Amino acid sequence: MRLSNKITLITGSGSGIGKSTALRFAKEGAVVVVNDLNEENGKQTVQEINNQGGEAIFVMADVTDPESVQQMVANVISSYGRIDVLFNNAGISNVGALHEVEPDAWDKIMSVNVKGVYLPSKYTLPFMMERQSGTIINMSSCAAEMGLAQRAAYSTTKGAVLALTKAMQVDYAPYNIRVNALLPGTIMTPFVENYLKSSYDNPEEAIGKIKTRQLSGELGTPDDVASAALFLASDESRFMMGSPLYVDGGVVFGKNA
Ligand code: NAD
Repeated sequence: MRLSNKITLITGSGSGIGKSTALRFAKEGAVVVVNDLNEENGKQTVQEINNQGGEAIFVMADVTDPESVQQMVANVISSYGRIDVLFNNAGISNVGALHEVEPDAWDKIMSVNVKGVYLPSKYTLPFMMERQSGTIINMSSCAAEMGLAQRAAYSTTKGAVLALTKAMQVDYAPYNIRVNALLPGTIMTPFVENYLKSSYDNPEEAIGKIKTRQLSGELGTPDDVASAALFLASDESRFMMGSPLYVDGGVVFGKNA
């Protein structure tokens, strides 16, 4: 088992990539703390982990709320005494060129996608520093590395997460804490399904367009990203520090002729 006895906290693991990663981590021997704003979905993830013989608990917290996040971390520490792996996965999307983004929507996505990485890290790090051990995975996106149409606010948040990852790594390397980022391409999750439905009259045609900007003929699955998260969470990636890990079917570094 690749994560035997590791205590792992995954934000936004009631759905999509976070949920797949929670199930995967549990299969590899981790205790999984499932966090989400959506209680029903979070508890469903826990149920599925329990059904496959794994150990998990649900902690509801809004990653944008300092008190809520502090309480979540305190709960995990009082139950398990430590957090070995923090996966800052929770996030939301926003579609539009910059002049189309309303100020409230800008603040909201900055809050969930950036503050939502800052707060769980802020309150978890002192416990990792004390033990001189820990791994943090931050969810960025290919949108951090390329000019993607109609994603001004979203790309801004994911670029910030990538920069934050590098800054964090430098500060916490002396404590034997690794901090890396995941950069997925288009992964079929409720997040992308909702975006396709709300942005296109013909979602199938939109999927075809998305495929033309990548080298793979298929869209990614949540499991593809869970595999990469598992690698970053495990000691197998012990020499990766402050790195972006792309899981994108060839979007960033490939170009279709
Ligand atoms: P998803 O919508 O399926 O899951 C996101 C989860 O985060 C949901 O369960 C939601 O309830 C939760 N969440 C939202 N706001 C929260 C908050 N304030 N506090 C706690 N939980 C909250 O989305 P997904 O596709 O699995 O995306 C997960 C992450 O991966 C996001 O950060 C997203 O930006 C990133 N990402 C996704 C893709 C993709 O194509 N799906 C690509 C690149 C990056």
